[in-house]
Amino acid sequence: MNLIGKTSAEIAQLLQSTVDRDFRGHQIAGWIHQRAARTFEEMSNLPKALRETLAAEFSLAEPEILERVVSSDGSTKYLFAVEDRETFEGVSMPDGGKATLCLSAQTGCAVGCTFCVTGALGAGRNLSATEMVGQYRLMRRDLPDEVERVNLVFMGMGEPLLNTTHLGQALAVLFERVSPKRITISTAGIIPGIRWMAELPRRPKLALSLNAPDQKRRQEIMPITRRYPLDQLMATVRAFPLERGRRITFEYVLIRDFNDHISDAEAVARLTEGIPSKINVIPLNEDAEHFPELKQPSRDVVDSFARALRDAGRVVTVRWSKGADVAAACGQLKGLGSTQRSRQVQEHN
Ligand code: SF4
Repeated sequence: MNLIGKTSAEIAQLLQSTVDRDFRGHQIAGWIHQRAARTFEEMSNLPKALRETLAAEFSLAEPEILERVVSSDGSTKYLFAVEDRETFEGVSMPDGGKATLCLSAQTGCAVGCTFCVTGALGAGRNLSATEMVGQYRLMRRDLPDEVERVNLVFMGMGEPLLNTTHLGQALAVLFERVSPKRITISTAGIIPGIRWMAELPRRPKLALSLNAPDQKRRQEIMPITRRYPLDQLMATVRAFPLERGRRITFEYVLIRDFNDHISDAEAVARLTEGIPSKINVIPLNEDAEHFPELKQPSRDVVDSFARALRDAGRVVTVRWSKGADVAAACGQLKGLGSTQRSRQVQEHN
């Protein structure tokens, strides 16, 4: 059994009949989570015989890193493979003493947003808690020594709120290293998932991928809107409990001549009225292969859109995505892609 996706309490419980002394379970959990041990062998304060027993009965296996691609802006895109040879990607964005790690929750995505390469490639499978924690451990270990503060964003491949069982377990483990206020779950608007998050005793931050101010246009680019209409979604978001000082993030991918008019900015401002929030404006990352008809607006249009939101009293950041030169930017993650994915599986059979 792999222990990296288990909490310290679960590890202590699982090891009860294996260890020689009561305190060992927590000692071993400390090695696994606080010191990010990769093997039982390196747990130098355990008796050798116990280390051998642990290695025979348990595992600390992490995903395999198939590829690391470093962008000119310093971010790194990782391609991971797991036991069944499914692949997925993660992105690490160090910035001085802090870093943001963008994590995946699935190996593809069935939600099918039309501006997203992951969506264009179709559904994959849910990542397990072990796999999600594994990608965190690998990217965390690679960060420069000066990085002290790490933020985690589930904005990589897949819709995290369609994988709540494994996500909940992964969060319980990640909370041992990272405060909930430094973890953000980004959703396309899965209403039952947002309600699930609202009930969590320790809640990460919520980000909603909004992308259009009305039902009609949102449905055009985000088919999930048919199932979870915008009015119901906004009512759910309004009811989401917020700890003191927290805000909900609204992400807004700006697409030329589709949702980038000043009147759209004003409509977004009206839609979010009264919600403690921040709006991330993300100029579209174009992709000539998967959605050639969608274009990024000019810098002037992006600036005017952001200004109109600010004039309406909104907190706004414009996020020119990092890692665009290595296809690591928002909406560009694809693992090996569905065709390559099946080829990869065949090669390993
Ligand atoms: S934007 Fe997110 S939810 Fe939409 S298709 Fe891409 S990965 Fe899935």
